[in-house]
Amino acid sequence: MTGRELSPSTITVASGRPPREPGRPMNAPITMASALIPDGPTEYARFGNPTWDSFEQVLGDLEGGRALAFASGVAAVSAVLDLVPLGGIVMAPRGAYAGSLNLLHDRAKRGFIELNLVDIDDTEATVAAVEAADLAWIETPTNPELKLADLGAIGAAADRAGTAVCVDNTFATPLRQRPLEHGADFVVHSVSKLLSGHSDLILGAVVTNDDRAHDLIAQRRSLMGAIPGAFETFLAARGIRTLAVRLDRAEANAAELHARLSRSDQVSYARYPGFGTIIAFELTAGPEAAETLTRTGNIVVHATSLGGVESTWERRRRLPAEPLDVPEGLIRLSVGIEDVEDIWADITECLAALS
Ligand SMILES: *Cc1c(COP(=O)(O)O)cnc(C)c1O
Repeated sequence: MTGRELSPSTITVASGRPPREPGRPMNAPITMASALIPDGPTEYARFGNPTWDSFEQVLGDLEGGRALAFASGVAAVSAVLDLVPLGGIVMAPRGAYAGSLNLLHDRAKRGFIELNLVDIDDTEATVAAVEAADLAWIETPTNPELKLADLGAIGAAADRAGTAVCVDNTFATPLRQRPLEHGADFVVHSVSKLLSGHSDLILGAVVTNDDRAHDLIAQRRSLMGAIPGAFETFLAARGIRTLAVRLDRAEANAAELHARLSRSDQVSYARYPGFGTIIAFELTAGPEAAETLTRTGNIVVHATSLGGVESTWERRRRLPAEPLDVPEGLIRLSVGIEDVEDIWADITECLAALS
């Protein structure tokens, strides 16, 4: 490699390859093994698998740290929360991802932590809460309300107060936001979403730029056994190769759809943070109409999850675990890479069928 700093779209393609030696495969192979020959980096596959390394290398290079893959995004979240001392204070956004909030509420209810929920887009209140916390749990944009946090202000406050910061970077991806550069100690991902990009696996990751923190998280993974599968990490390494082009295309689609939805008099508001692939909107006709709308798409699939090549939507509050802070009629639209005119024609037909 040259001494030049590579652009992220090149890193997604070039990083995490086996050494270029005669006869070696260009892609890291899938290693199906429980035991490895002793005297290497590991001899039992709960502690390491060469297939994990390829994906971890790419993601680490993109975020500017070292990555560790986990069985799921939620397993990655758990590993970071495990580092909070007993009785420690955790600050988190009121409207964060339901799975993360469920983990936090569970720990708070059992007396392991004290939970302090804040409006993450209220920077003054957030900074005050960060200063009083042991761990600041940040999601920006939040899922599904798309609220934004001021990572610079949070990083500075955390630095002054000695608070650890973890940012869930699932929605932005390292191509749009690199939290470690703003002083975050940990980044977590649901790799099930944009990074793998094809709605065909469950996987998570933690990234840090501190060797001690990396070792602590690796230890959690081995202790808890929340390890990724070789096949899933292979698919994730394959999927992340096209992240830059998928994101560019889906993002352009999302910006255009947001503009058109905002102009529709059947839509009471449409929110889009200006980057990423997710739109949140509500209908003037209310939650029931929202439920009907999301069940009638032909191109846009009625499904949970997000970040795949296909457009999907759902009314989030149909799920019993969704926080009550999320509006009853909120539709989360995950924009895919289809032709934007085909997506819009589908949405227009669904809207017309309502009235
Ligand atoms: C989906 C998601 C998670 C959880 O990840 P899984 O891979 O489903 O376990 C965490 N955070 C955000 C923002 C998510 O969207």
